Amino acid sequence: MQRLNGKETAQKIRTELKAKVSERKLRGSKTPHLAAILVGNDGGSLSYVTAKVQACEEIGFDSTLIRFDDTISEEALLLKVIELNKNESIDGFIVQLPLPKHIDETKVTDTISPNKDVDGFHPMNLGNMLLNLPGFLSATPAGIIELLKRYNIETSGKHCVIIGRSNIVGTPLSIMLSRNSNPGNCTVTLAHSRTQNLKELCLQADILIAAIGKPEFVTADMVKVGAVIIDVGTTRVDDNSRERGWRLVGDVKFAEVAPKTSFITPVPGGVGPMTIASLMMNTLKAMELNGK
Ligand code: NAP
Repeated sequence: MQRLNGKETAQKIRTELKAKVSERKLRGSKTPHLAAILVGNDGGSLSYVTAKVQACEEIGFDSTLIRFDDTISEEALLLKVIELNKNESIDGFIVQLPLPKHIDETKVTDTISPNKDVDGFHPMNLGNMLLNLPGFLSATPAGIIELLKRYNIETSGKHCVIIGRSNIVGTPLSIMLSRNSNPGNCTVTLAHSRTQNLKELCLQADILIAAIGKPEFVTADMVKVGAVIIDVGTTRVDDNSRERGWRLVGDVKFAEVAPKTSFITPVPGGVGPMTIASLMMNTLKAMELNGK
């Protein structure tokens, strides 16, 4: 069994991006600038956004964090999005999800200019991804593809089972992995809460990807010997032995599953850091696409 070390791989990507940015700065180019909007005080969302801002600082990108109380109206938030769309100094921006219930997330995502949509959630970017046209790929699926690529994991002809069909992870990943590309050329099964015989399907998977949000859902009896396991899940569970009172747990029961696998991502330190690395790659791309 080999760990797919997302933390180390993401660090390599950051170093590569840092070099590219320094080189561009020497040539008098603009510094890439990522903005993030955070609504409310959810601890998880705050730590994700903070990690994104820190990544910008490390690489040498400019970053702007815009915070609002969770009482902000949908109209006021949309006006801010429109303002960022027009702000020439900002190359890309994200609105951290989830948003409070009174705000329509789809409306917000659809209002972000597709050219600045570095999370890749806008329908135009999802459509371009589907048609294999240029655009921004959703950060988490793109990070998983990059991880598979950097570890030279053979995907062609493999049966890949993805559990979870969200618009930000499972569904785009199912398309990317079934495409005629490398990584890709998988035969993909996209499973969800209505799937029957899930265990039997998982046992057929050469590559098993869990994106459910249910701690330790995938157990050893669901995994074929030698499978590649990608654990996207990140759930905070109470843990009084930790100073902060919680720890992050993935969708895979790592201790019992890992010995059966050829490769497996840990949680934390697997998919999470790759998601941030993808976001940084998308921000540089946004600047380049916008001709700066
Ligand atoms: P989501 O919107 O929370 O949806 C969960 C998916 O899992 C749904 O498709 C659901 O099926 C399916 N599901 C739920 N229970 C199931 C069951 N018992 N059997 C089979 N399928 C089941 O998904 P998400 O936003 O992709 O998030 C999933 C997890 O990934 C969460 O823990 C999230 O925090 C994590 N995540 C991590 C990163 C990262 O960078 N590490 C990024 C994004 C998300 P239905 O569609 O039928 O309801």
